[in-house]
Amino acid sequence: MDGRSPIEKNKQYGIEIIDMGHSGEGIGKVNNFTIFVEKSVIGDKLIVEITTLKKNYAIGEIVEYLEASPFRIEAKCPIFNECGGCQIQNMHYEKQLELKKKIVVDSLERIGGIENPPVEDTIGMNDPYRYRNKGQFPVGWADSKMRIGFYAKKSHEIIDCESCLILYDKSDEIIAKMRRLITKHAIQPYSEVKGKGFLRHLVIKQGYKTDEIMVILVTNGRDFKGSDAFVKDILREIPEITSLVQNINTKKSNVILGGENIVLHGNSYIRDFIKELEFKISPHSFFQVNPEQTEKLYATALSYADLKGDEIVFDLYSGIGTISLFLAQKAKKVIGVEIVEEAVKDARENAKLNRISNAEFFVGKAEDVVPELYKEGYRADIVVVDPPRKGCDNILLDTMIKMNPKKIIYVSCNPATLARDVKRLVSEGYRLTKVQPVDMFPHGMHVEVTTLLQRVVH
Ligand code: SAH
Repeated sequence: MDGRSPIEKNKQYGIEIIDMGHSGEGIGKVNNFTIFVEKSVIGDKLIVEITTLKKNYAIGEIVEYLEASPFRIEAKCPIFNECGGCQIQNMHYEKQLELKKKIVVDSLERIGGIENPPVEDTIGMNDPYRYRNKGQFPVGWADSKMRIGFYAKKSHEIIDCESCLILYDKSDEIIAKMRRLITKHAIQPYSEVKGKGFLRHLVIKQGYKTDEIMVILVTNGRDFKGSDAFVKDILREIPEITSLVQNINTKKSNVILGGENIVLHGNSYIRDFIKELEFKISPHSFFQVNPEQTEKLYATALSYADLKGDEIVFDLYSGIGTISLFLAQKAKKVIGVEIVEEAVKDARENAKLNRISNAEFFVGKAEDVVPELYKEGYRADIVVVDPPRKGCDNILLDTMIKMNPKKIIYVSCNPATLARDVKRLVSEGYRLTKVQPVDMFPHGMHVEVTTLLQRVVH
């Protein structure tokens, strides 16, 4: 090439969408140059106009559909085009599952350097709607009106939402009632731009098997004027609430919850069951958002562990101890490590609640705690890790390699960092033997996957 781009801005090109990007945008090529096209689906044949041209890619807008993709369906959600969630609701569900498998395969091949990785078909849902147990709704202003809903694509403009098809039905009703009560009691919505106003977010968590409901009012300050009357009204209108919590967040940040919780009514937690195990879940504690699929994810991890009863197992990034307690039923001992103190408190209580006495939990960063435990002489036969999107810290990987467990079960919500970490483990004597994507987030681009690495070098 002579250094000039093979395409030009403001010109139109014919294109076929052959892949999807991280945010659910379609990807095609013109003269081997990558073009991202919003709202397109794999298989669409389009005329696009180039609106942005960068060195390595361009962005095109759809001008005309030459042939709509056979995988394209009408999104059920009325605000699909505006809302930033559910980026691929307009794609056939079977194709979504295929796409997620492909993302895992591609990452392991390209980033992990693994040829033909043993990736199973994605385990999907029979009914991929109304699956989420937790909704987080920003409260704010637009055109001098209060809005409660979701952020628009790539922005912090709030789109009003009356009905979200991936959340449990109950949350539609709660939001409608809260909208009325916030207006009636003149509670001031927060303005992100000005940093002023009171109510920032509503968070709703609901037990899948218990139907217990937690509503968290995230407020820009502690002093809650008129809260008695407001709370009374909320409980009269929504008596199903078993835990009503005020969370104080005065920071100018995108993090939804602040550090302090005040219980306004009921318990400081809700309970739920995964299979036969019972869990207490506090406001700050992580709990998988799709309980039906969580059972499948954990069952896969458990089958990979194939416990005989004499194993010491580490469960790192253990949250409220969900995976730990499943493993503890079949292992000699489980050691969980988790950074959020409230979650560790929940984990310890959950162990007691389920009469499990062979699970011990430590608070702290896995990369700090595990090297300490190693120094003290702790060893593991099996290590389970379930890190956040950024994957495992290098110090943790170093220590795991020194510990030399016979199996590592890596549960991941980000195939790219999974592949990076797998590459390291494979170079240190592990073999990637099983990979199972589980669809925890139908209609969204997130991919969850469980993998098994087995030690080949002793
Ligand atoms: N295994 C649990 C939680 C997985 S989510 C489950 O399936 O429910 C990831 C967890 O890692 C969260 O609970 C988060 O608080 C925790 N975490 C994040 N960074 C961490 C770190 N450096 N060390 C330990 N835990 C961490």
